[in-house]
Amino acid sequence: MNPLFIQVHANDNVAIIVNPEGVSSGAHFQNGLTAAESIPQSHKITLAPLKAGAPIIRYGEIIGHIINDVEAGRWIREDMLTLPAAPPLDQLPLATRKLPLPAPLTGYTFEGYRNADGSAGTRNMLGITTTVQCVAPTVEYAVRRIEAEILPKFPNVDGVVAVTHTYGCGVAIDAPGARVPIRTLGHISRHANIAGDPLVVSLGCEKMQPSRLLPFYEPSVIRLQDNKGFAATVAAICEQAEKRLAELNTRRRTAIPASELNVGLQCGGSDAFSGVTCNPAVGYFADLLVRAGGTVLFSEVTEVRDAVHLLTPRCADETTARKLIDEMEWYDEYLARGGADRSANPTPGNKRGGLANVVEKALGSIAKAGSGTIHHVATHGEKVTAKGLVFAATPASDFICGTQQLASMNLHVFTTGEGSPYGLAMVPVAKVSSRTALAEKWPDLIDVNAGTIATGEQSIADVGWQLFHFLLDVASGRKKTWAEHWRLHNALAPFNPGPVT
Ligand code: CA
Repeated sequence: MNPLFIQVHANDNVAIIVNPEGVSSGAHFQNGLTAAESIPQSHKITLAPLKAGAPIIRYGEIIGHIINDVEAGRWIREDMLTLPAAPPLDQLPLATRKLPLPAPLTGYTFEGYRNADGSAGTRNMLGITTTVQCVAPTVEYAVRRIEAEILPKFPNVDGVVAVTHTYGCGVAIDAPGARVPIRTLGHISRHANIAGDPLVVSLGCEKMQPSRLLPFYEPSVIRLQDNKGFAATVAAICEQAEKRLAELNTRRRTAIPASELNVGLQCGGSDAFSGVTCNPAVGYFADLLVRAGGTVLFSEVTEVRDAVHLLTPRCADETTARKLIDEMEWYDEYLARGGADRSANPTPGNKRGGLANVVEKALGSIAKAGSGTIHHVATHGEKVTAKGLVFAATPASDFICGTQQLASMNLHVFTTGEGSPYGLAMVPVAKVSSRTALAEKWPDLIDVNAGTIATGEQSIADVGWQLFHFLLDVASGRKKTWAEHWRLHNALAPFNPGPVT
C-alpha cells in the first residue's frame, strides 16, 4: 500500500495514517507531503508547519494547542498538545439548526415477537429476575439445570436469561441516586425480549423488595427464605420455569415495522479511525433507522461533553437542548465530587490507537449520532419510548452504558478500534470494527468491518446500509451476531450514584 492518510475536514491541519504497518521517515504521500519521522497507523501527522500555541484542528474542530513549533510531516503525540477547556455550558446555541425533515424510509420490517404490553421483541427468552445479589448464584444454578433438562423440550424459545446484578441491599435505597439502578433493573426485568413477563426470585429480607423493583406489576415471586433449603428452591424455580417455557414456546415471529426497533449505540476500545470509519457508518445507519421511524440511542456523557456545542444546535427545541445541558452539568458535578479530572478518559488503549485526548475522542464518538435532529433527551434510568434520535444519558463505561441502554433497546451496536469481545445475554450485540486489521485478526468476533472506508473500498453509505440490512436479519433471528454465537454475556452493571451503606 502506498503511504496514505485521511484528512476528515478541509480545515484540518492533522490527518491520520491509514497504512497498517505505519509509514517510515521519508515516505512520500500523493499530495507531496513527506513524513519527517516514522508514524504508526491511526496516529496523527501534521499537514503543515505549526507555530507554538497554534490550534490543532481535526474534524474541523480544535482538539488542542501545540506546545512547541513543529514542521509538516511530524507525528503528533498526546504530550505535544494542551487539553482545551470543555465548552462552557451557559453559552451554547440552543436548537438553532433547523434541519430539513429527512425523507421517510418505508417498507422495512423485521420478523419479531409482539408482546402483550405492545412492545416488540427480537428474541423469545425466559427471563428470571432477581431483587438482590444474594440469590444470584442460586438462580444461575437453576438456569444451568433449566438449560440442560427443560429448555430442549421447547425449541421455539431462544434461551433463558438470569437478570442478576450487584444491587439490592447494603445501599441507601431511599437516596435520590438509588432511583437510577432501581429503575434500570425494573425496566430490564420487563424487557421486550422476555415478553415483558419475568419470573421473580427474591431473598426475603433485602432492601429492594419485589414491589420496589416492579411497582406496577404483580408477578408471582419465589422467596428463598420461604423455601426449605437449596434443593427445594431450585425445584420451585424449575417448576415455574417449565410452565412459563410452555407458554413462550407457542409464540411465533410476525412481521413488525422497522419503526419498532430501538437500537442502542456505544463504542469501546476506540482508536483514531473510529471517528472516520465505524462511527460515521453507524451514524449513517442511525439516519436510516430514524427515517424508517425507529429509535436510536446514543449515550456516554463523558464522550459527548467536549462536543456538546455541536449537539445543542441539533436539538428539536430549546427544552430538549436544555435537558441535554442539564445532563452534562449533572455529570460535571458528579465527576468533580469524585475528584476526577478530564484526563480520566481516554484509556491507555485509546492513546495507543492515536487518540490524543478526550476532545478528539468525543468528536469521533458523536459521529455515531448521524446528522439528524435530536428528538429527545433521556436521563439515567429512564426507559426511552420516544421515536427518533435520542440522547440517553449514561456513563461511557461499556458495561454500565450497555446496562442502561438495555432498559430500552432491543438491539445493540458496539463499535471498536482496539477490539472488545463484549456481549449481552438479553439482546444481540453487533460489533463493528474501525480497521480491517482488527476484522482480519478477529474474524469470529467482528460482525461488520468498517475499515474498508479508510482504504476507499466501501463508502460510509455502503457500510451504513450493510449494517441496516444485517440488523434487520439479526432482529428477525435469521442471523446471529458473533457475541450471540459464542454466548458472550457480560454481567449487568447498574449505575449507582447513590451511597452504599
Ligand atoms: Ca463505551
